[in-house]
Parts: sequence; C-alpha cells; structure tokens
Amino acid sequence: MKFTDLGLSEPILRAVREQGYETPTPIQQQAIPMVLSGGDLLAGAQTGTGKTAGFTLPLLHRLMLSQKPSAKRTVRALVLTPTRELAAQVEENVRAYGKHLPLKSMVMFGGVGMNPQIDALRRGVDILVATPGRLLDIHQQGHLDLRHVEILVLDEADRMLDMGFIHDIKKVLALLPATKQSLLFSATFSDDIKALADRLLKSPQHIEV
Ligand code: AMP
Repeated sequence: MKFTDLGLSEPILRAVREQGYETPTPIQQQAIPMVLSGGDLLAGAQTGTGKTAGFTLPLLHRLMLSQKPSAKRTVRALVLTPTRELAAQVEENVRAYGKHLPLKSMVMFGGVGMNPQIDALRRGVDILVATPGRLLDIHQQGHLDLRHVEILVLDEADRMLDMGFIHDIKKVLALLPATKQSLLFSATFSDDIKALADRLLKSPQHIEV
C-alpha cells in the first residue's frame, strides 16, 4: 500500500514525501482510513510504530475539510500526552506534516512560564498538544476555550494513567463538546484503560499492531 492510496490531500502527501517516508507503516495503513472516516478509534500501538503520523495525518486532513473560512481561531484538535518530551515531539510532527496547511499548532506543558503560552493561545491555535496538568491550570485561569474541539487524541493513555492523570483527564473530558471524534492510543490495556475507553469512545474501531 502507498501513501497515495490512503485518501490524504496533496499538501499532506507532499509533507510526507519531504519527510522521506516511502510507505505507510502497518498502523498508518489501518488508522489513516479509519480516522478519515470520522469514527472513534481504539489503537494498541507501541512507540516507534509510526503511530504519531497515524493520527496526525488524518487529523490534519479532517480539520482542513471542516474549516470555515471566516471562523475565529479556536482550538479544534486537542492531543493529550503524558510528558512534556512527548508533547514536544508530537507537536514537532504536527508542524512537519502540516507545513503546507494554514493551521497553527502549539505545545503546552508545565515547568515553564505560563505567560508565553497564554500569549500564544491568544494569537490563535488550531491544534493544541498538551500535558493535562498545565492545560487545566491555563483553563482555570480563563485563557482556554475547549468547547469547539472536533478531534481529541489521548496518546500513550496507559502512561497517563500510570502517572496518575486519570482525574485530570476526566476534568479535561468534561470541558469538551459531546460531539467530537476521539482517538485513544495505548501500548497496554488494563481495566482502567478499558474503562476510560468505554466512557469516551463511541462504537470505536479497534486496531492492534
Ligand atoms: P512514532 O512511533 O510515531 O514515534 O514514529 C517513530 C519514527 O518513525 C519517527 O521518527 C517517525 O518520523 C518515523 N516514521 C513514521 N512514519 C514513517 C514512515 N511511514 N516511513 C518511515 N519512517 C516513519
């Protein structure tokens, strides 16, 4: 299977070519068409499998499809990660794959000053990649509107639960609209992950690689 068989638009395919990727990995072959179809997804995938492009490429495609030219910029896609390192890495990927698209992304995590993050939000962000704690802090201060999120990704959900983020995740979920597409990626499936998936995902498709 080739990247050009997956239904992605030309600006995204061009960015993929510029990354030097030749063929989609197994998880990309499965996840990309599923995410493009608009449904929820439960994916079992380790890091190193290409999972980041597996959710980022179709996420970018879908945001472009539903973009309203005159709309005010609000957060339309939210990716939650357990650590700042992963958040930074995912956002770098979003930037690389979205380089030919008029979408703005931003990374937000704790341990650094809040004001630059608040300023960046004010300038407008389409895709926010964040760790849960800082996200909630900034929301609590009234600087973040998550009511227009169209796509939610929980990346490395098992690690987020291992790190004790379940309450934060539940608080974030309560800030999001009921109608959204949700994608949950996890390397392992404990009862806690299954409970989170049951609560969040609507008739999800399953992938295991
Ligand atoms: P990930 O599992 O998302 O952390 O990706 C692991 C690594 O594989 C990253 O360095 C990606 O840049 C790279 N990668 C992702 N998709 C592909 C692909 N289709 N072909 C070659 N490398 C890829």
